[in-house]
Amino acid sequence: MAGDIDIAVVGGGHNGLVAATYLARAGLNVHVFERRPFTGGAAITEELWPGFKFSTCAHMVHGIHPKIFRDFQLTERGLDVIPRQGLQVLPDGTYWGPSTHESPRNRALQLTPAEREGQRRYADFKNTLQRTIAPYRLQPPPSLAEVRAKIVGTPAADVLEKALSTRIHELQDEFLPDGPLKDRLGNEAGAIGRNPLGFQFAYASLNAVDEETGIKPPNGYVRGGVGVVSRLFLESAVAAGVTVHIDHEVSEFIVEGGDVVGIRLADGAEVRSRVVVSNLDPKRTLLRLTPAEHLDDGFRARLNDVVTHVSCYKFLAVISELPQWSAWDGDPYAPSTGSVVLSLNRAEMGAAYDDLEAGRPPRRPLVSFSIPSAVDDSLRQPGYHTASIWIYPAPAKLRSGTWDDVRESVAEGLIDQISAHAPNFRKSIRDYKLRTPLDLERENGLTDGCIWHVQHAGEHLVWNRPLPEIAHYRAPLAGLYLCGAGQHPGGEISGVPGHNAAHEVLKDLGQL
Ligand SMILES: Cc1cc2nc3c(=O)[nH]c(=O)nc-3n(C[C@H](O)[C@H](O)[C@H](O)COP(=O)(O)OP(=O)(O)OC[C@H]3O[C@@H](n4cnc5c(N)ncnc54)[C@H](O)[C@@H]3O)c2cc1C
Repeated sequence: MAGDIDIAVVGGGHNGLVAATYLARAGLNVHVFERRPFTGGAAITEELWPGFKFSTCAHMVHGIHPKIFRDFQLTERGLDVIPRQGLQVLPDGTYWGPSTHESPRNRALQLTPAEREGQRRYADFKNTLQRTIAPYRLQPPPSLAEVRAKIVGTPAADVLEKALSTRIHELQDEFLPDGPLKDRLGNEAGAIGRNPLGFQFAYASLNAVDEETGIKPPNGYVRGGVGVVSRLFLESAVAAGVTVHIDHEVSEFIVEGGDVVGIRLADGAEVRSRVVVSNLDPKRTLLRLTPAEHLDDGFRARLNDVVTHVSCYKFLAVISELPQWSAWDGDPYAPSTGSVVLSLNRAEMGAAYDDLEAGRPPRRPLVSFSIPSAVDDSLRQPGYHTASIWIYPAPAKLRSGTWDDVRESVAEGLIDQISAHAPNFRKSIRDYKLRTPLDLERENGLTDGCIWHVQHAGEHLVWNRPLPEIAHYRAPLAGLYLCGAGQHPGGEISGVPGHNAAHEVLKDLGQL
């Protein structure tokens, strides 16, 4: 490539495309370098079998901030988010379903007065924490002192202190009596990590109501698959003047005099730029692409310890009939329009985490079963549906062998686990593909297959995401910025880390 450029964005995930667009709209000459033959990162839709489209990583959205909707005119340009409901089924033939569905099997209607009161107080607690942190979404994270100063003397102050010092299980024990409701929340503690602080709820601020407009990010499937979101971001980037280079893997940052001054591509070519913005996860950015001699050993060691080893896998299948959930006694079609979670109680979730720490595939993981094609015909051929199943948690690496060795046995175990709840599932499978943590690392470029680049754990959120000294999107080396899911406010499809990082770059360039 002839001549220097202003900005090299490394990685064409949705956050990279969002950052690139804001920077190009400010008049800068921006180039995106993506190692795969397409952009979108973990927000993509692929035709795995002719006529069947799957969102092979993320399959629903809930965190795209209203400002991102406006700035990219997503609604006007056709982004259609189809709302969905959830159902949790239990092995004893009961379920947690919509409160409008009258049935003795529906546990949501069988709560004791003490459970109802506990549920209300627990929800208040979480909502207060969410409202405390959400106003900081579209900016670099505040310090703890700033947050404390803002809420001093209000009930939120007590909530924050408790959230910072209490584990989720302890919070649940404090608010809820023993019984089915607390068991149900085994899932909650599992989905966001059982070990660190209750402050994990801070990550849920991603989908809070926008204080300015009162609008909440829409929650549901994207018509056409989540790849549509990334396609719209790509089109905006190109319209703003960004040049996108696919099949361009970046192997190293060029560092001179302690500053990052460009990138070196896998084929050896060099590109000089005023600024490099990395969409890659923090470990990939700073432990792999940044030559080690330019970073302090202590910093590298602490970054290496940042939690990324909690992964997941996906089971994607063409099915010939919709699953018939034994527990469900309502409209047979209804569960297929949302997600069905095979509920785990606290002890079962704990056992899944024991498997994780022991480095073996979970024997009984949390399973979230979705059929996007049930509400979107464009994803399927007539007579079949597309099942998109998310399984969590799973160790990034196995203690013995690799995920390639156990692919088949893990898929079989999962099919059995699901078939115990929906007996017609096994025979309905026409084709399937299991995407393991190793696949997520190898194909999607996610360190340890960590879907949020860095775990949404209490110790890695807000001012600590992923570490305090790089929480403001600036790497320790001048000229290098981070704009991916590993930054505040976190992972999921939101575009917010990309938005925030671009604005910090513009500030440093004196353009804001
Ligand atoms: C299995 C799975 C399920 C998920 N489910 C959901 C969900 O339902 N809803 C939701 O909101 N979120 C979900 N997520 C999380 C969400 O998809 C991610 O957090 C988000 O897409 C990350 O976006 P990003 O742009 O920050 O990074 P990424 O999407 O990771 O983009 C990084 C880009 O950098 C590229 N790259 C890597 N290395 C190099 C290199 N050396 N040179 C050049 N390019 C490189 C990659 O190919 C990729 O395109 C899921 C993720 C996974 C994996």
